[in-house]
Amino acid sequence: MNIKELAKSLNDYAVKIRHELHACPEIAFDLPKTESIVIRELESFGINNIVKGIGGGHGLYADIKGGKPGQVLAIRSDMDALPVKEETGLDFASQNGNMHACGHDAHMAMLLTCAKILSEFKNDLAGTVRLIFQPSEEPANGAAVMVKDGVLKGVDKIIGMHTGNLWQGLKAGQIGWRIGAFMASTTTFDIALNGKGAHGATPHLAVDTITMAAQIINQLQTIISRELNPFDAKVLTIGRIDGGTAHNVVADFCRLRGMIRCFSAENSEFMKKRIVEIADCTAKSMRGSASVEFSSDVPPVINDRELTLKMRDVITEELGAEFAAEIETPTTGAEDFAEYTRTIPGAFFYHCSTFGDERDKPHHNSRFMVNEEFLWTGAAALAAFALHWQPGA
Ligand SMILES: [Zn+2]
Ligand SMILES: [Zn+2]
Repeated sequence: MNIKELAKSLNDYAVKIRHELHACPEIAFDLPKTESIVIRELESFGINNIVKGIGGGHGLYADIKGGKPGQVLAIRSDMDALPVKEETGLDFASQNGNMHACGHDAHMAMLLTCAKILSEFKNDLAGTVRLIFQPSEEPANGAAVMVKDGVLKGVDKIIGMHTGNLWQGLKAGQIGWRIGAFMASTTTFDIALNGKGAHGATPHLAVDTITMAAQIINQLQTIISRELNPFDAKVLTIGRIDGGTAHNVVADFCRLRGMIRCFSAENSEFMKKRIVEIADCTAKSMRGSASVEFSSDVPPVINDRELTLKMRDVITEELGAEFAAEIETPTTGAEDFAEYTRTIPGAFFYHCSTFGDERDKPHHNSRFMVNEEFLWTGAAALAAFALHWQPGA
């Protein structure tokens, strides 16, 4: 049996596992049930060398050693859900107040199905495949912990895949590929503004942090529109303002929270430097002071050219050219998969699971759904890549 036929015949398996995972969504690093399902399934394929207890406790990896010599390829799935109350009405919907509203349940189901396929083709496999199951992708801090815990030790290359309906124009079951910039970096920041409180009727006795905030917000947008190359995509958003207490009190303190996204370390460093300068100088010019703190600094996902083209060729060969689709524009969505490609070459792909009708809802929406008919193409693409990516395979 070839990979395509085997994967197709395992679609029911992928759907069954996804339903089980979907019904017990867990958040961030706290994934005991999810972990136990993944371990149970891996063991049922005879994969027993599972390294547990990493990535904050519930992350894990397992190696499938091939019958021929070769390099080590890691394939990564995330595991976590979101604190969203599910409203899909599906019969396997979550009842616990959390929801797999980003499709990470489908990622695990596809990687497990891939593992099942690779276990059957083990003798044909060159080198080793490391299956990585990573916690806490949504807060974007899980991958860094996994890397710190040594998950990439001895690994040569890494691939991963996200499912969903993000790129319009792709058809269900297609695997989207893109060389170079694919997903944006994300950096969050807090700006704390200090002034002096007084009665709203006597602003001359106060130092107003609300007008200070207004100036800074407008000024920050000029980093994007006036200071950086318009052909480089980047975003700066202030998502939250906290300041003041009453109509008639000048606020002595105000906090702005925001994020920046872009596709290069240079732009990211430049924006960070300018945020500090603008906040500081504007606050001072208005007789106040500012302090800026950055957190959650995830780099952009930049896909390795060779691995990306290899995936396109493998899909064309093993599944059919109609299943490989080039993605023309990157997304300003971020992925902590970038933490792995900081260390080793890698490529991230997009598995289209759209319905093409009103059932398509945005990621993280309480009615988000995955078209399960084509889970097999994701599993088949990952398995075929593992079997054919390196010479000698
Ligand atoms: Zn998400
Ligand atoms: Zn996601």
